[in-house]
Amino acid sequence: MSKLDWVDEELNKLRETGLYNQIRTLGSAQGAWLMVDGKRVLNFCSNNYLGLANHPRLVQAAETAMRKYGVGPGAVRSIAGTLDLHIEFDQRMAKFKGVEAAISLQSGFAANLAVIPALVGKEDAILSDALNHASIIDGSRLSGAKILRYEHCDVADLERVLRETRKEFRRCLVVTDGVFSMDGDVAPLDKIYDVTRNYEAILMVDDAHGEGVLGRGGRGIVDHFDLHGKVDVEVGTLSKAFGVMGGVVAGNARIVEWLHQRARPFLFSSAITVPDVAAGLAAIDLLEESTVLVDKLWDNARFFKREMQTLGFDTGASTTPITPVMLGEAPLAQAVSRKLFEAGVFGMALGFPTVPQGKARIRVMISAAHKQADLEYGLEAFARVGRELGVIR
Ligand SMILES: *Cc1c(COP(=O)(O)O)cnc(C)c1O
Repeated sequence: MSKLDWVDEELNKLRETGLYNQIRTLGSAQGAWLMVDGKRVLNFCSNNYLGLANHPRLVQAAETAMRKYGVGPGAVRSIAGTLDLHIEFDQRMAKFKGVEAAISLQSGFAANLAVIPALVGKEDAILSDALNHASIIDGSRLSGAKILRYEHCDVADLERVLRETRKEFRRCLVVTDGVFSMDGDVAPLDKIYDVTRNYEAILMVDDAHGEGVLGRGGRGIVDHFDLHGKVDVEVGTLSKAFGVMGGVVAGNARIVEWLHQRARPFLFSSAITVPDVAAGLAAIDLLEESTVLVDKLWDNARFFKREMQTLGFDTGASTTPITPVMLGEAPLAQAVSRKLFEAGVFGMALGFPTVPQGKARIRVMISAAHKQADLEYGLEAFARVGRELGVIR
């Protein structure tokens, strides 16, 4: 017996129950097509909504900035890691989103760990949608506040929890994903706002899958519902539609100032890197110049979803470019994924515990980088594999 034998046992359990994750390796840049484990396949898996991860303007901006500033941040923001580029980025982001202020972090995950414990503590409560992202859950746990879950996107249940418990707590934070990543449904943020305003609750939305996707020119969920000035905190990521790596907290200026003083990932982890900030600025430029990419994303998403439904597939509750193809049991989803891959299409099977038991699916991520011919190629493969495995007729 060694003290680490338990690791082998746990890993074997994962293998036996089919939950061991075989991680695929890419040999190419992000884009509509990828080299995956040595095979050229159509990419239906990335969060690269606008095709910016490999966009020449972003690459150029990163190169130019690296010639001037180098690559590494060298320090945390609060000591010697704040470049004029960071200040420019934070201001440009705030302006793009139409909020008072913004602060950039190393990732969306870090942004949630930064903001939640800075807003609430032991005497407080967090009201959290049942399907919120793992980083919201971890940030909530770190805060020490009491976590109260409400039913997914259920405003009546949220109101019930507020009514029954609000008086017991000093402060109250209501937090929801904007777009839910597994189903592609959108939180009813307008109705959530209407409820929370009556209970003196801080309102926070994590717009990771909405930024660059929802709202005018990709300005996000707050713009989509025209809730400017009403949502206290928007968390965002630069790692999805923006095509780089980083996180953002945007919204009320007092909260952003407080985060500069108290957010632990800001104070104790080094600044977001030079190429990321510079390319992030180029992404804002592109989005401000034109809505072409966002429009293309939505055209592609609508076309693909409609054609999949015509073929007889169930695309669930999605109203966004995230397109779940509902298959039921995990082994079927895995078989579809495997056969798609053989047919040159990279589509990820998601099963329990990522999604509920019996709700396994292939999650297709549509991008502006897809050409019409790419989508048709993917539809043909889905039709063939779906018929072969008896999913459609
Ligand atoms: C992807 C995601 C994150 C994490 O963002 P990163 O920048 O990749 O760390 C946080 N919240 C939600 C809702 C997400 O979908």
